[in-house]
Amino acid sequence: MTDVFEVRAWDGAGRLGRLDVPRAGVTVETPALMPVVNPHLRTVTPVRMEELGAQILITNGYILYESDDYREQALDEGLHSLYDFSGAIVTDSGSFQLSVYGNEEVDIDTREILQFQHDIGSDVGTPVDIPTPPDADRERATEELVTTRERLELAADLDLGGMLLNAPVQGATYGDLRERAGREARATGADVFPVGAVVPLLNDYRYAEAVEVSLAAKRGLGPAAPVHLFGAGHPMTFALAAAAGSDLFDSAAYALYARDDRYLTVRGTEHLADLEHLPCPCPVCADHGADGLRALADEARERRLAEHNLHVSFAEMRRVRQAIRAGDLLELVEARARSHPAVLDGYRALLDASETIERTDEASKDAFFHLSAESARRPEVRRHHDRLVALPVEGQEVLLSEGDRNDAFDETWRVVPPFGPFPRTLSETYPLTAEVPERTDRAAQAAAGRGVTALAEANPDVSFTLAHWAWPDDVLATLPDRVTTTPLGEDTPPDDGA
Ligand SMILES: [Zn+2]
Repeated sequence: MTDVFEVRAWDGAGRLGRLDVPRAGVTVETPALMPVVNPHLRTVTPVRMEELGAQILITNGYILYESDDYREQALDEGLHSLYDFSGAIVTDSGSFQLSVYGNEEVDIDTREILQFQHDIGSDVGTPVDIPTPPDADRERATEELVTTRERLELAADLDLGGMLLNAPVQGATYGDLRERAGREARATGADVFPVGAVVPLLNDYRYAEAVEVSLAAKRGLGPAAPVHLFGAGHPMTFALAAAAGSDLFDSAAYALYARDDRYLTVRGTEHLADLEHLPCPCPVCADHGADGLRALADEARERRLAEHNLHVSFAEMRRVRQAIRAGDLLELVEARARSHPAVLDGYRALLDASETIERTDEASKDAFFHLSAESARRPEVRRHHDRLVALPVEGQEVLLSEGDRNDAFDETWRVVPPFGPFPRTLSETYPLTAEVPERTDRAAQAAAGRGVTALAEANPDVSFTLAHWAWPDDVLATLPDRVTTTPLGEDTPPDDGA
């Protein structure tokens, strides 16, 4: 491991990092988006990408290797001159072509293609791994992992003269294989770890599985490894993927979608033909409007749409970075999850792993916004329940109340769904400073009930009474029998009784 990646701040499993890229002499702030540059189709020039915010690009080393037009130029001048780009440039190896066209069409040798990537001045090179597609049978996934591992080990032994090395993590949709592949990739001493072959999952909106696959890979890689979610180029997925711990994203989508007159937004994809109003303030949208864009000639329209698509993508990536900085990445994921059911699926899969994401979560943030039933499953709620059992209970008769204090009891603790009970003295500490809706939901009450149960079980000699605002019977039924319950009223609470 060459220690080129440093995590600066955490928000759940999401993180702000710095990736040092020695050959380019630059440090990339992550999470970062890498636009894909096809040397033959430069819809948007790398110079323009840099103006839009690109710190790092990715291009296909195999296409350059095979190209009559660019191979010699790339070898003579180097990639940075060929593309007129001063940031970091990552090269892929042709594994994707291999997976699409097969062994007979694509003949690549890891040593040779890595040497070529080195010779054209790539900053991060990639060996020829085997991208096993989702749903491949287990035997095939296991065999192909062996081949991938051999090539990674071979690559790690080469003298790459300062070029960083990608070590792709494969394993199809098998969590244990992904985890093992992550561990083996990490052990090679490579620098960056692409989670491969997730494109088919993303294309089919199987975001929950994409989250599970990347979490599994990360279990093997460990929290310090920089992770590239290969093919996650739609801006509506960035917050989710970053929250699952991805640091690098690549976008071919900006150009592929533009070619079909598709307009990217953080809420999904629109067809230009259907748009009367453009929900975006970028210069392309401001200058042209929907009618103006449609009126452009094909090539100009494709280029302008691609620029808009990049604008939206970079803006979302900045939003993700700021959200991590502010500690409200999960709020951003919730917002995106409300726009598309596939993102909601992905968010639910992420919350299934709340124990994992809690481990790297910052203990204190500015605020917790309870925005949906899913909020009740956030790591902060779990952490509060874990801590509850250690909080000292001073009285023998304790009231846990969503309403006011009552002096008939030795002590009155506040109860706020989804957290449950806590001493009043903790009211000003995160996450109990949470902003919660007055009209709470069953999931939040059920989570608060789990808190009541945890507290009661940790203090078997104390008599607890819960005063609640019309919690449903099935939630009350989950509480231990010795917790007395008393309703405060039929409806939602009046103003907070704190
Ligand atoms: Zn725009």
